[in-house]
Amino acid sequence: MLTRISRQAHALYRAILDLLFPPRCVTCGRLGVWFCDACQTSIQKIGAPICPRCGRPLTHSPCPYCQREPLHIDGTRALAFFEDKMREAIHAFKYNRRVELAPIFAAQMDNYLRAQQIPFDVLMPVPLHPAREKARGYNQSLLLARELQARRAVALWDRDLMRVRATQPQVELDAAERRDNVRDAFAASARVRGRQILLIDDVCTTGATMDACSVALKQQGAQSVWGLALARGR
Ligand SMILES: [Zn+2]
Ligand SMILES: [Zn+2]
Repeated sequence: MLTRISRQAHALYRAILDLLFPPRCVTCGRLGVWFCDACQTSIQKIGAPICPRCGRPLTHSPCPYCQREPLHIDGTRALAFFEDKMREAIHAFKYNRRVELAPIFAAQMDNYLRAQQIPFDVLMPVPLHPAREKARGYNQSLLLARELQARRAVALWDRDLMRVRATQPQVELDAAERRDNVRDAFAASARVRGRQILLIDDVCTTGATMDACSVALKQQGAQSVWGLALARGR
């Protein structure tokens, strides 16, 4: 009963907010939605052929990136490149507190996963360092993972992978610096033993962060680790 009343109160609150501050597409400004269908459809998805490991479009086989930097993670995937409207929308989500985008992004991730063969029984958001999470007020990856869990019969664990060292933002670094920056930055709990983990992140720049997470998870006996991001760097 209480939950129903609080849900109704919440719906009313949202309706009033929408009247006072109507949603506008974060990329084109169209009224009525936070990310309009036209803008979402215009995003160029990363499609086959891709490297089965790093998820980059495959122009040569074997993948030159994975030859040069072998990954520990079983595979990483991203829906699109971190460019154009995807970049603008993620920016709004992450830095302008447009958390209303979380369910929209999660729906895109869900559609992607339904077309793929990725084994997982636990979702885990890539953790922020507590200081950064406090400054931002939320971990955008956790918001995505929560919305994705609402669409899937899987567990969501957000306390079993910790960032134990503050790191610089990956975008400020070159490839070698990125690997050093995140090395040993994560620790996982023993609960992950035998589990099939799917890491969730908003952006993977080179994949170094997710790979460092997978090392920590596999040290604790995780059976498999995959990563899914909304967008990746080229
Ligand atoms: Zn739009
Ligand atoms: Zn590769």
